[in-house]
Parts: sequence; C-alpha cells; structure tokens
Amino acid sequence: MGYVLSQDSFTRVLGKIGLDRRLYAPVNKVGEGRYTDVDVVRYDFISEAAEIEMEKKSDYAFKELLTPLSETLFFFTENEVKEADYDQREVLVFLRACDLHAVKRLDAIYLENGRFPDPFYKRIRDRVKFVLIGCGHSYEDCFCVSMGTNVAPEGYLFSVDLQDGSYYIDVKDQDLAPLFAAEAEAEQEVMARHVTENEVKVSVPADVPLAVYKDPLWDEYTARCINCGRCNFVCPTCTCYTMQDVFYTDNGKVGERRRVGASCMVDGYTNVAGGGQYRRTNGERMRFKVLHKIVDFRKRFGYDMCVGCGRCDQVCPEYISYANIINKVKKAAEGGAANA
Ligand code: SF4
Ligand code: SF4
Repeated sequence: MGYVLSQDSFTRVLGKIGLDRRLYAPVNKVGEGRYTDVDVVRYDFISEAAEIEMEKKSDYAFKELLTPLSETLFFFTENEVKEADYDQREVLVFLRACDLHAVKRLDAIYLENGRFPDPFYKRIRDRVKFVLIGCGHSYEDCFCVSMGTNVAPEGYLFSVDLQDGSYYIDVKDQDLAPLFAAEAEAEQEVMARHVTENEVKVSVPADVPLAVYKDPLWDEYTARCINCGRCNFVCPTCTCYTMQDVFYTDNGKVGERRRVGASCMVDGYTNVAGGGQYRRTNGERMRFKVLHKIVDFRKRFGYDMCVGCGRCDQVCPEYISYANIINKVKKAAEGGAANA
C-alpha cells in the first residue's frame, strides 16, 4: 500500500522510526563544495524530512557508512588485543536504485570473496537497512540503464518520491505501514519512479581479448590522468583499503590498527618489497580500474561491478569520462581503433 504525506507528516514518521535507529541520507552542504560558494551533496545523519536532498544526485556515495574512510579495528598492548567498540544501533540509509545495486557489489567483495566473511564489514552491514529514493529523471553522466541498474532490486523497507511538495511512499515492510497510515493525507497505489533512458549510453563488451590490454588507447590516460584518486573515493563500488598501525608510545608495543581507504589510481598502490611496482603509469592504472569494473569482477561474480552512477565522470578534475572509456574498450575489443 502507498501513502501520500506532507513534509511535516513525513518528519513525524521519521521521528518515530528514528527512535531506535539512525537515519543516514544525502544532504546538501551549502558552500562546502570544491570551489568557493559551491554546494556538495554528501551523506550525513538526519532527523527531519527537509534535510534529505531529494532532487540532486549525491556527489559522494553512501558507502562511508559501510566502509569508513578510517576505521579502528582493534587496540593492542604488550599483552592483549581488544576489538574496537562500534555503534550497535540500526541505520536506515536513503539511496537511489543504482546505489542499492552497489550494495550487492560491496557485499560480494566483503562477504563472498574469500573463505570467511569480513567480520568488521559484517558487524556494520548486519545493522543496515535501506530506503529507496525514486528517480523522476536521469541526471548528467548517469548511465544506469546501460548497466541494468535503473530499476531497484528488492530489499528496501519503503520508497520515497517527492512530487509537488508531497512525499509518495510505497511501504514494503508492513511493520512500518501503521506509522505511515496514521499520518497520511491519502492512501493510494504508489510505485517508486525510475528512469528508462539516459543521455549517456555505454556498451559493455561481452569479451575483452588480451590484445586490448596492450592497446594504445590507455596511453591517453598516462598523459591526462593526474592520479588524484578522486574517482575511487566517490565510487559506490570501489572497495580497496590498506592497513595502518598507529603506535601511542615510542616503545612500539601499544596502539591501534586502522583500516583506511585506498585508491588503485594513486602512485604507490602496487608497491611491493624490493622496490617493485606492478603498475607504474596512469594508463596502466586506468586499465586495471576499468577492466576490473567491467570484465574481471563479472568473471568472478557474474555481473558488472560498475553501476553507472556517473560520479567518477563528475568528479574528475581532468574531465576524463569513464563512460567514454567503456565504449572505447568495446571498439577495441571488436578490433576497431578505439579513438576513431
Ligand atoms: S579522478 Fe580523474 S585524474 Fe583523478 S585519478 Fe581518477 S581519472 Fe585520474
Ligand atoms: S560510474 Fe564510476 S563511480 Fe559510478 S559505479 Fe561506475 S566506476 Fe563507480
């Protein structure tokens, strides 16, 4: 069943839902963008409907909740190790269809990619549930339709669409229905909106021959990319991290171990003992990133890693279009000149 609520009514429902949960949603941060007087949409904890940015696409993904940029895993002393405490309350994350598909990718990497699920990821993930934000139109750089992520998978508690000042709610979790029914201005069928066409279209090659790995198409990115790593940090599906041991005293026996975000585009990511480095040029790094997203992940899990959110294209200071690269790889894979 669906419900139509005013902003005040929706806030009252959120207040009740939020009594024993935290609410995490995209928020428009005024003047906190990359340039003077530029806003940015980032995720944050909210308590009122008006705080949720329902119109703009978020510049950063929700993933910092599941995979914090810096997370203390445990503390150590000379004699013992103690796992770090964490907030045990449930969290409700508001996100769009592409990002809900991204959760499946994060789960695959952290829960299904080895002999054991990652316990630090799992303890957070077990407490996270989702609310779908409908998409009334496509945004600049989105190519979710090409990636098959424009329609949300199941697994969210309710959806919310803002139209003409009213919140249209489709409740999937019937335990929550009475809360909405008590505040609704109307009860009617509601379906979360989704887009059926994007301006940007990509064609992912079914197979990428080894010759594409040596193709000159990657040289362009050795020249253009400045290996800043921004594309990785906005991506909802990038999962790489590194470890840092922080010592509190100079005897080197007391401290904490942190997991911190890492970027495959940044110099030093592939450094190994003895001074070796597997990918030295930015073109090689781009090749690794792109082919992991549209080839290697699929070989392992059966679907592409990239969900077509377009955030990497938006954030790149060198105006490098990842969507264009996919189409160039397709051409090269078919034997054509990628830059023709
Ligand atoms: S954001 Fe652009 S310049 Fe920075 S690492 Fe990614 S592709 Fe390279
Ligand atoms: S479009 Fe870019 S940022 Fe979005 S999922 Fe794909 S690689 Fe990541």
